[in-house]
Amino acid sequence: MSNAIQAVRGMNDILPEEAAHWEALEEMLRSWLRSYGYRNLRTPVLEPTALFRRAIGETTDIVEREMYSFVDELNGEALTLRPEATASTVRAAIQHNLLYGSPQRLYYMGPMFRHERPQKGRYRQFYQVGAEALGYAGPDVDAELLLMCARLWDDLGLEGIKLQLNSIGSPEERARHRVELVRYLQAHEESLDADSKRRLHTNPLRVLDSKNPSMQPLIEAAPRLLEHLGDASLAHFDGVQQVLKDAGIHFSINPRLVRGLDYYNLTVFEWVTDRLGAQGTVCGGGRYDGLFEQIGGKPTPACGFAMGLERLLALMQEARAAEPAAQCEVYVVHQGSAADRMAFGVAEELRNHGLSVLQHCGGGNFKAQMKKADASGAILAVILGEDEAASDQASVKHLRQEREQLRVARATLPDTVTNLLFLEDE
Ligand code: ATP
Ligand code: MG
Repeated sequence: MSNAIQAVRGMNDILPEEAAHWEALEEMLRSWLRSYGYRNLRTPVLEPTALFRRAIGETTDIVEREMYSFVDELNGEALTLRPEATASTVRAAIQHNLLYGSPQRLYYMGPMFRHERPQKGRYRQFYQVGAEALGYAGPDVDAELLLMCARLWDDLGLEGIKLQLNSIGSPEERARHRVELVRYLQAHEESLDADSKRRLHTNPLRVLDSKNPSMQPLIEAAPRLLEHLGDASLAHFDGVQQVLKDAGIHFSINPRLVRGLDYYNLTVFEWVTDRLGAQGTVCGGGRYDGLFEQIGGKPTPACGFAMGLERLLALMQEARAAEPAAQCEVYVVHQGSAADRMAFGVAEELRNHGLSVLQHCGGGNFKAQMKKADASGAILAVILGEDEAASDQASVKHLRQEREQLRVARATLPDTVTNLLFLEDE
């Protein structure tokens, strides 16, 4: 086995047992997004490197050291595996003139790539679902996005996910704050770590986003952007908070929250849990009114969020009982040449009635097949033997409850099976 090829470090195979939970989550996410009028947008995983450099910012962690970038040897194009999908969404909206006539509520779901140090809750290929409200200027849509998240935690049965909120104002307000921030950081230059020393001159606001514990006291005492906001920014911030209060959603204002991407303005937020160790941010987002122009489009207000599926699943795993997901509702066992042929038709008829059916393949005696049926997690076994085939009937055995085995006409089998499954749910 020593020369067997392994997956790339930090990139995971998701095996069927676990993938069942992924599929269930993805279905819930899609119907939740649709219930707020969000429609799906699918963009490529590869984009021109320039897109992310311009959108996320040259001096962010993502662009400085986390991107999988390479030059296409065939044509010399500089390409990057997407580290996030807001930039791609905006690129597509501009390229296809999607906002012509009306604003858009869009969502995406899929893999992202960042060259980070792999650890629990942090991978090099990970999955995000994100919602983007494009063409909306008011605080109402910021608030709606937050209400959506609150509903999702509820739907998924997740507790203890807390909202942290901040406003980082307008570019002009940030410029005024920057002068004070740089003065403050220079006065403490000897206490800055290497990253922060560098950023002091390139992107001082990023210093506030440092995760280095030894930097925290300094960051705590730094001049606050929130205190440099003008009336318009404050009114927007108040507007968001008002809706949250009306809806009874608790939040705390965190003046040091700046987010790791440069495109944000006004509202920024994170949903954080203390149940996932150091990787406690489940969802992050905010407003990005300048991004369309930054990548060559017309000025367009916009707001959105992204959440990590691995972190959601880890929280859900905590919340759910440790019972393996059933592969199918019904398992069809069959023996004898007439029954073997009949099995195909019976399985298809059950599927016609919307049931999930696993048909036994590979032969073997009834006893061995029933063992497989049990191990599959199916609720019912449909049994076809020589007698059943000869009389055009089927036997049905409940695999999870003590019940008498039934023998029914083939024509009534779908109804019998549906009734038994329905009873099981009660
Ligand atoms: P963090 O502070 O944990 O690095 P981030 O601010 O870089 O997060 P965003 O870029 O805002 O994260 O992405 C939104 C969400 O995507 C995060 O809240 C998290 O749930 C998830 N996420 C980000 N990076 C990773 C990763 N490397 N592995 C798994 N999930 C991730
Ligand atoms: Mg990060």
